[in-house]
Amino acid sequence: MQDVGHNRNHFAADEYRRGGNDVRIGFIGVGFMGRHMARNLIQGGHELTVFDLKREAAEELLSLGASWAASPGAASAASQVVFSSLPRPQDVEEVAMGEGGILSGAGKGTAYFDLSTTDPATIERIAAAADAKGVHVLDAPVSGGTTGAEKATLCVMVGGDRGVYDEYKPALDLIGDKVMYCGGLGAGAVCKIVNNLIGLSTGVLLSEAFTLGIKAGVDAETLFTAVAGSSGATQAMQGFPNGIFKRNFDPGFALDLAAKDVGLATQLGRELRVPMEMSNIAQQRYIIASSDSF
Ligand code: NAD
Repeated sequence: MQDVGHNRNHFAADEYRRGGNDVRIGFIGVGFMGRHMARNLIQGGHELTVFDLKREAAEELLSLGASWAASPGAASAASQVVFSSLPRPQDVEEVAMGEGGILSGAGKGTAYFDLSTTDPATIERIAAAADAKGVHVLDAPVSGGTTGAEKATLCVMVGGDRGVYDEYKPALDLIGDKVMYCGGLGAGAVCKIVNNLIGLSTGVLLSEAFTLGIKAGVDAETLFTAVAGSSGATQAMQGFPNGIFKRNFDPGFALDLAAKDVGLATQLGRELRVPMEMSNIAQQRYIIASSDSF
């Protein structure tokens, strides 16, 4: 493990085999999701430079050979491609464009993939600022939870320049087995917002439906098997048998991030004047649930 300070250390793009096995990667945000994705990139043979607000979150990665950076900008200065996995759109904007941020250290030709769940407007603002520096920005949110992140079975939904996507697809393949190009900048974010609206709203309905069935006297496992074999079967309930049925409430995804995701969908709906009655009810449920957790 070594520390990477603030000294700029730009590398010409042709010094590297792009997307191949020895790409120098910066990784910002190594929480529930980021730590697994970063580990898979290291195990795929890449050299990683990491930064997180909490250094302790990176301990395992540092023990695997990653370098620690003093700031997101120091990480990007040492890297050909940068990934971030951060909680909210405002965190992404701060890490990308703030003082000591990714853009402050990134050299011309650097690619930046944001793996967070964010909105198209945020990624567009970052891309506009990056453009002036010759930095390529792509939105690349992921789906599959912490298990998918750990097992590298994520769906990675990428929006932005097709050529840059193609160059780094081999690196993206190390974090997911369903890596897909969704279209221009923001298209990945839109796919992810739509997916999470469906998954999370279904979660609200599932909690009502299963509570109903169990209170009506049917065994939880029996209920699960009946629904799993019927038209109500949905991915959002697959974790029940080893999760809530066993009273396993270990968090893998924070409630306030769920509230954020449903809110990104209803906000986009307002901007585009799409009526979203049920989605707004689901959003209220997540706002209540995340307020309860404080
Ligand atoms: P998390 O809160 O566990 O991890 C975020 C990490 O970012 C933390 O370690 C935090 O310290 C760090 N961080 C926050 N602000 C920072 C800053 N300014 N500079 C540097 N580091 C900073 O969140 P997570 O569950 O890993 O989710 C990350 C993103 O992925 C979110 O956008 C979330 O919506 C999305 N996501 C999460 C899941 C999941 O199951 N957890 C699944 C798919 C997508």
